[in-house]
Amino acid sequence: MDRILLDAGSGGKASHRLIHDLFFRLLGNDYLTRMDDAALLPVSGPVAVSTDGFTVSPLFFPGGDIGALAVHGTVNDVAMLGARPRFLTAAFVIEEGFLMADLERIVTSMAKAAKEAGVLVVAGDTKVVPKGAADGMFITTTGIGEVLVQPAPSGHRAKPGDAVLVSGFLGDHGLAIMASREGLSFDVPVVSDCASLNGLVEAVLAAVPEVHVLRDPTRGGLITTLNEIAAQSGVEIQVEEAAVPVRPEVASGCSFLGLDPLYLANEGKLVCLVPEAHGDAALAALRAHPLGRHAARIGTAAAGPSRVVITTPLGGQRLADMLEGEQLPRIC
Ligand code: MG
Repeated sequence: MDRILLDAGSGGKASHRLIHDLFFRLLGNDYLTRMDDAALLPVSGPVAVSTDGFTVSPLFFPGGDIGALAVHGTVNDVAMLGARPRFLTAAFVIEEGFLMADLERIVTSMAKAAKEAGVLVVAGDTKVVPKGAADGMFITTTGIGEVLVQPAPSGHRAKPGDAVLVSGFLGDHGLAIMASREGLSFDVPVVSDCASLNGLVEAVLAAVPEVHVLRDPTRGGLITTLNEIAAQSGVEIQVEEAAVPVRPEVASGCSFLGLDPLYLANEGKLVCLVPEAHGDAALAALRAHPLGRHAARIGTAAAGPSRVVITTPLGGQRLADMLEGEQLPRIC
């Protein structure tokens, strides 16, 4: 069988073949393969739970695919609570006629991402919908993680005086998806940054348990994320535009396309707010990790109205609001 047929989601023999021959072979573990109605997990204490639906288009893009993204995205959301992600569930909605080889490639990529992040896929579901009822494939993942520090980092905990850090170059994922969707190529190829950040989070928390806020600037990019934090915590966030790390090829691709890299999605970066006294230690911990080598301090939280104020390289100031509408639909 080289294409997924409707009966692969029927719950009957074809479903069982797909589950055993593909999902168990690539993702199998003692929880998943027991085949009960639910997995019984050995988790104690407070847990962090997050769920996300992935609809990225195209399914395969420079630097990743929907399978890797469905693992990284949910692992990262759980990790942003200062938790160690341990378990994932995955639900697939597949369009009839989907190539089996593509499904295998996507699930293989999920398995690799899950292994690297140290998480097990413990429950799953597959539905096949008639041709035209979905665009190829959608994946929904739910992640469960053990809380490592209390109180957990939260968007509500930013305080005036906090240093605002980012873990590296911004805008790579958004521009890579955009370029691959539009068939554009740049002199220096732009590749998605998609990666699991739980190791980076543990490194920074080990150095600075006092971290106030961790958040991954995905849809809507850095500025949207900072606006969310400003609103949740009731602080003004001041950003030095010149300090925000953006790759030259991303900056030039964005100016060509009329996009702002500070609003573009990232899938392997985090924003971190820490008390000023721990700013240098947190920055050093980020930079010591391979996924945080280009971390930078980009600003400060201040007492004031809930808003984001950017100081431009020429010294002017402007308000940076959340975007109206979607700059780039189906980015993740
Ligand atoms: Mg998030």
